[in-house]
Amino acid sequence: MHDERFTQVNVTKEHARYMAGDRVAVLLPLPLAGPYDYLVGAGAEYATGDIVDVPLGNRRATGVVWGAATGEVDASKLREIYGRRDVPPLPASLVKLTDWISRYTLYPQGAVLRMALSVPDALDPPKPETAYTLAADPPEFRSTKARDRVIAFLSENPPLPAADIAREAGCGASVVKGLADAGVLAAIKVQPDGDWPVPDPARDGVVLSEIQAAAANDLCDGVGKGFAVTLIDGVPGSGKTEVYFEAVARALADGRQVLVMLPEIALGAQWLARFRDRFGTEPAMWHSELTGARRRDTWRAVAEGKVRVVVGARSALFLPFHELGLIVVDEEHDGSFKQEDGVVYHARDMAVVRAQLEDIPAVLVSATPSLESVTNVRRGRYREVTLPSRHGGADLADVEVIDMRKDGPARGHWLSPMLAEALAETFEAGDQAMLFLNRRGYAPLTLCRTCGHRLQCPRCTAWLVEHRLVGRLQCHHCGFQTKPPEQCPNCEDTESMVPCGPGVERLAEEIQLLFPEARTVIAASDMVHGPKQAAELVRMIEEKEIDLIIGTQIVAKGYHFPGLTLVGVVDADLGLSGGEFRAAEKTFQLLYQVAGRAGRGDRPGRVFLQTYMPDHNVMKALTAGDRDAFIDAESAAREAAHMPPFGRLVALIVSGRDEAAVDGAAAGLARTAPRNDGIRVLGPAPAPLALLRGRHRRRLLLSAPRAVNPQGVVRDWIARAPIAKKVRVQVDVDPVSFF
Ligand code: ADP
Ligand code: ZN
Repeated sequence: MHDERFTQVNVTKEHARYMAGDRVAVLLPLPLAGPYDYLVGAGAEYATGDIVDVPLGNRRATGVVWGAATGEVDASKLREIYGRRDVPPLPASLVKLTDWISRYTLYPQGAVLRMALSVPDALDPPKPETAYTLAADPPEFRSTKARDRVIAFLSENPPLPAADIAREAGCGASVVKGLADAGVLAAIKVQPDGDWPVPDPARDGVVLSEIQAAAANDLCDGVGKGFAVTLIDGVPGSGKTEVYFEAVARALADGRQVLVMLPEIALGAQWLARFRDRFGTEPAMWHSELTGARRRDTWRAVAEGKVRVVVGARSALFLPFHELGLIVVDEEHDGSFKQEDGVVYHARDMAVVRAQLEDIPAVLVSATPSLESVTNVRRGRYREVTLPSRHGGADLADVEVIDMRKDGPARGHWLSPMLAEALAETFEAGDQAMLFLNRRGYAPLTLCRTCGHRLQCPRCTAWLVEHRLVGRLQCHHCGFQTKPPEQCPNCEDTESMVPCGPGVERLAEEIQLLFPEARTVIAASDMVHGPKQAAELVRMIEEKEIDLIIGTQIVAKGYHFPGLTLVGVVDADLGLSGGEFRAAEKTFQLLYQVAGRAGRGDRPGRVFLQTYMPDHNVMKALTAGDRDAFIDAESAAREAAHMPPFGRLVALIVSGRDEAAVDGAAAGLARTAPRNDGIRVLGPAPAPLALLRGRHRRRLLLSAPRAVNPQGVVRDWIARAPIAKKVRVQVDVDPVSFF
């Protein structure tokens, strides 16, 4: 039982072995490569998955034994493998996953392997450290209180580095060194084993309600029984996390490792605290903010089985677990699981594939499941566990629409009188409020009042966004920055440049005028740097040092702020304008999640949506509180249009610096487009970002019926089309964004 896109997944746990004289394929983590053939040297023996050093040209490269050699090259021409690295082999499942992802996404195996071998340093054993222990035959020495504490400590403890001894004995490291110089302590070399506290599944969790307990039992029963996918579908606050923690506990109790994937890990402070409450310690984390040393230690500790639970962003999928027993994908609908550069893949989907290769359960979790997952449940491929009500019985907040066509604010203002009044009432009552606006900075567009000139990124088809707090204009696509110009770059008029539209900074300015007393914080990705700041922000909100949060999507999900009773969505239409086929689904998910932040404590919450489209399906479903009606309508519309999950899409993005060459390649692809098996090709059309980082971009979109595997067709198509060397064709199977 699986998503039909993921057929041909076979479970393999066994590694083949190769002896001296055998020819083997070794895959190197290089972006353009498949495996190369090598020879096993005299006296050596390797297995698939072994991490080895090999000669490559005149240098030394590290790769992975991938299987029997496939090439026809004469054995006398092959070079020998140098030897094995001192690290556990890549698990069989990860070797298979690499091949599988390569076939599915049409990126070379070497490019995929690069994600699994992302930490080259981890392939070397950690350097031995100097540790100190009591000398067997110590000389006479001058005793001090500090020295006595060190000796007392070491007489009951194993050898440790000086800094650790000093900390435990409450003295400076120089005391330890002094004792060593005097010959009282002996210095020895030890392998650092890292500090990986083990989560304890036996601790008590919260007392689950009857319905939560039934859901938890259902999940726990599946642990250890092979592959199955379960969707936990429950309203925000229904206890989904507590429920899947029970499955995590079961897998841990069975001696297995667990992977929990979360989007936007930097803001997982509350999640980590919950985990600590349940399991007594934090899990290992895997995300982009880790230091190099931490990354190295974590990778190795996962491979060696010292780390039992990892919580991580999408790249955690490629960690070398050897004893994986469960994968959880929380907020499974979240678009950030799709990696858009390098190898383009969907981490949620590939997590399901890894679970299948490992023959273990996968649990997908969401209050607003993706249409893909809902459809898989409806087709009987995924199991479903539902949690229909909030824990504690508090109702979901009332959602009301504010029709900006008639009830909007005066020109140049962004808060309607109704929303402003609701804010006033909320502050009056001593409660907290949140204004949601998914736009960083001060204003999304700056234009000249005199000539109409708009400030645009020189390298992208994008307006420059003013960030007034740092005094810069920024491109949100390529990072280009510049100082706001004093005069119009086009007509040279002075003081004619005006900001258009609001970002969170501008909203804060309006709040400052309306509610000078309100303690306001802006929560946006460029204002909150890293997990520490995020944790501090959460603490301030929890302890009611903040009255109003003005936030972008980083505050939309997962948070539980009991004091928050009002949520105002400043521009509910923002995501609906682009015309992508997922626009309604994405907007519904985002606004539903945002609305779910209100009234999570004991008082009811209120939600206001400012919109110019009060009759839109999304607004109607939100106000009626009828998610299923939305899903049904959206599902029917997609089916009628043969769009995913009822049809398949593969996008091609043709790009390059030479616009004529890009157009030539795009036209060539259009001419040679496949036209059989119900396959259709749309385009080429300029991409919405027709210029990105100085590269011109055109898009083609292939659509295929559900029963057709488009990968082979696309591979042949690209091979056939005349494409100039300087033009790149990026393949995006199951596209999520269409930028
Ligand atoms: P969800 O993941 O569905 O949003 P959570 O698991 O985060 O829900 O639960 C929301 C809040 O309710 C959390 O603070 C959680 O600790 C609390 N909670 C959920 N179930 C229980 C329970 N059975 N007993 C006590 N607190 C609970
Ligand atoms: Zn740019």
